[in-house]
This record gives sequence, C-alpha cells and structure tokens, in this order.
Amino acid sequence: MQKVDVLVIGAGPAGSVAASYLKKQGYSVTILEKEKFPRFQIGESLLPCCMEHLDESGLLDAVKAKNFQKKTGAAFMRGEKRCEFLFSEQFTQGWTWTWQVKRADFDMTLAEAARAKGVNVNFECEVLAVDANSERQITEYKDIEGNIHHIQSRFIIDSSGYGRVLPRLFDLSKPSAFSPRGAVFSHLEDINRTEKTSNNIFVHSFDNNKSWIWAIPFSDGSTSVGIVGDRDKIVDLAANDGEKYKQFIRNFEDLKGRFAHSELKFEPRNILGYSVGVKSMFGDGFVLSGNSTEFLDPIFSSGVTFATASGLLSAKMTHKHLQGEQVDWKNDYEDVVQKGIDVFRSYVTGWYSGDFQTIVFAKTIDEEIKNQICSVLAGYVWDKSNPFVKKHDTILSTLAKVIKIKESQAD
Ligand SMILES: Cc1cc2nc3c(=O)[nH]c(=O)nc-3n(C[C@H](O)[C@H](O)[C@H](O)COP(=O)(O)OP(=O)(O)OC[C@H]3O[C@@H](n4cnc5c(N)ncnc54)[C@H](O)[C@@H]3O)c2cc1C
Repeated sequence: MQKVDVLVIGAGPAGSVAASYLKKQGYSVTILEKEKFPRFQIGESLLPCCMEHLDESGLLDAVKAKNFQKKTGAAFMRGEKRCEFLFSEQFTQGWTWTWQVKRADFDMTLAEAARAKGVNVNFECEVLAVDANSERQITEYKDIEGNIHHIQSRFIIDSSGYGRVLPRLFDLSKPSAFSPRGAVFSHLEDINRTEKTSNNIFVHSFDNNKSWIWAIPFSDGSTSVGIVGDRDKIVDLAANDGEKYKQFIRNFEDLKGRFAHSELKFEPRNILGYSVGVKSMFGDGFVLSGNSTEFLDPIFSSGVTFATASGLLSAKMTHKHLQGEQVDWKNDYEDVVQKGIDVFRSYVTGWYSGDFQTIVFAKTIDEEIKNQICSVLAGYVWDKSNPFVKKHDTILSTLAKVIKIKESQAD
C-alpha cells in the first residue's frame, strides 16, 4: 500500500494551498482530486487577503504569471444609488488588490504549481471511504477506470469543498441558520464594458434586499453574471435552460443594457441550498478546511479567501502535529477559523436585513467608517483593531439605526 505523510482530499484553493505549504516543510504529500482539471467551479472574485496565503504557500508567482483580471475594489448598487470601495483606501495594512478569475484556469494553475513543487496530484481519483485514527488513516479511492486503491497517511486534510467528504462520512454536517437561497449564472460577452462601467465586481441589490446580481469581469472581455435569491425564485429563473435568467439579465434596468445583446458562453447553471455548517472542524487524524467546514453566502466573495486562509492554517497545525508538538485544534484552529466566519456572518445578515445597504447608501458616509468596512470587504476579518471586526455583531445594526433617524429628521 502507498504511504504518505499527508493526504489532501480535493485540489481546489484550500487543498492546493495546504499541500504546497506542507511540501515546502519537507513532507510527502498526495492530493486525490475527483475531477479532471481544468473544471468549472463557481467563486470567481477573490479578496486581497488571500494574496498573503498564496504567497506563504509559494503559489503566488504562478498565479501572477497568468495575468488574470486585476480587482482593485467592489461597487454596490441599488437603483440609482452607488457605493464604490477601493482596497487602496482601507483601515488594515494589507494587500490593495487581487484578481477576478475563471476558476477552471485559477484552480488548474494552483494545482500545477503545487505539483511543480513536488506534491503528487492525482486527478480523477474519488475518495470513497476513510478509516481514521490519530496514528494513521487508510483512505479508499476509485480511479477513472473504476479500480479501487488504498493509501495510508499520517494525517488527512479534507479540502473537498461542496463534496464534503469527511463531514458526510463522519456525520459532521449541520444545517445553516440562513434561509435556503440559490444562484443562477453564466459567462457573457461584455462588449459594452467601458472605463466607466469598470473592471471591478458590481453587485446590484433588488427585491427589497432579498435578491442581487453579480457582474464579475474577466481579462478576456467576458463577464460572469449571476442572480442570487430565494430558492423558489432561482428555480423559476433557471427553468427551461435559464430562459427567464436570460431575459432578466438583458432587461434589468440597473444594468442599463450592458448585456442586452450579449452571447452566453454556456447555458446558465444553477446551485441551490449551498449554506451549510459543521459540528466540528477536526477529529482524530484529520482536519477540515475550505468549504468542507462552513459556507455562508456568496455576497461578499469570501469563499476562496476562507479556503486559502483555512487551508494554510490547517497545514501549519498539521506541520506542528507531525513534529510531535501538542496541537490545540479547538483553540488554535477551529476557533480562529470560526471567528472569521462569524464576522462575515454578521455582514451577510446585515446585507439581507438591509442594514448594510442603509450604511453604504447613506446620503453621506464617514471616510473612516468606510475604510474600516472596506477592510472587512478585503477579507481582513481577523484584525481586532478594526471596530467593524471587533464589534461585528452589533455595529451594523446600531449604525443603520442612527443613519435612519438622522435621515428621517433631515427630510
Ligand atoms: C453562487 C456562488 C457564488 C460564489 N462566488 C464566490 C466569489 O465570487 N468569490 C469567492 O471567493 N467565493 C465564491 N463562492 C464560494 C466558492 O465557490 C467556494 O468557497 C470555494 O470554491 C471553496 O474552495 P475549496 O477549495 O474549499 O473547495 P472547492 O473549490 O469546491 O474544491 C474542492 C475540490 O474537491 C473535489 N472533491 C469533491 N469530492 C471529492 C472526493 N470524493 N474525492 C476527491 N476529490 C473530491 C472537488 O472536485 C473540487 O475540485 C461562491 C459560491 C456560490 C455558491
């Protein structure tokens, strides 16, 4: 039976970052990936904070060489209202830009760069079963010909994303408190893109803050356009090859005809009920990272950054464990990841309650407050010196209340 130090399940951003970091520390690392890459994945707008994780795991230069679309900020819109955040104007000292990427190219780049560093990356190998204890784990997987193999490891990092391999096998999933939503999306020709419409992500809020549209421009001139809303709305928009989605994108007033005559690059796809949590992020001989932990909502483009952040931290803790050091997985891993998730949970809640919109679309917005919010939107959700991180659970609703009172008095 093949033996490795670390087995990583999944070659998405979490898996490649974790594997590459551990290879740098001198371990034998194997990734088992179910799909053949390049493969489509949703999650195309990154946050500046993930640049630090790509750098530390040795993957940043490979991504830089691809000349993906540079992202320097994000704009939120509702009707005629508009609020643009620029990452160069933020509270936390950190990266001021990142990329918007087609995930097929991005994830392939990460996996190839990890392989170039010596990680053994096996595509079209689906993990079926895991027998784990703290000393060793035996993983069963199936290759593309249907042959069954077993591999022994000293530790497993589960980065299987929506596949949720270990949460499924070890009954670790728990339902999300968010109401079930979905998204329908495609890539469109974007011939009307101008300096004015900008190359950064646009988010249009509508339906009384219940639904929103993303527009994520890519460097090849195409743009990803998706609609997020309640499950039933998305099922309706996605029916009949996305007929209503196409009509909506072409006619939605706030897009001002930008995609009125655009060709779709592929028939609209949809994803439903993606919000999910976990009872525990670790167990004997394994740790979960990326989307196989908890996924909240796509509104603030936090998924890939959480994948790289938790992928890197899980690898650092695995390194400590394999060195024979005592690891406090609850305190040093789960609680750290959970803190970041909880900050974003407050912002997602604030988005759908309308508090976030009340703040960003206020008649005036204090520059210092805007810069502090901007750092959250850049992914710096572990910076406790930022009051919009520290007091995340109350600050949005309190500020929104004050703004509403002020604006009603001024009217
Ligand atoms: C509608 C929507 C829009 C989004 N938009 C954004 C966005 O703009 N920006 C952003 O940052 N995030 C976004 N996200 C979130 C993003 O998709 C995820 O957070 C991100 O892909 C997680 O990365 P990961 O590495 O954890 O998992 P993944 O990228 O899902 O990678 C996991 C890998 O594991 C493999 N795998 C699964 N099962 C097995 C198995 N049994 N054996 C072996 N391999 C397996 C899969 O094939 C896959 O390649 C969005 C999500 C949704 C639902």
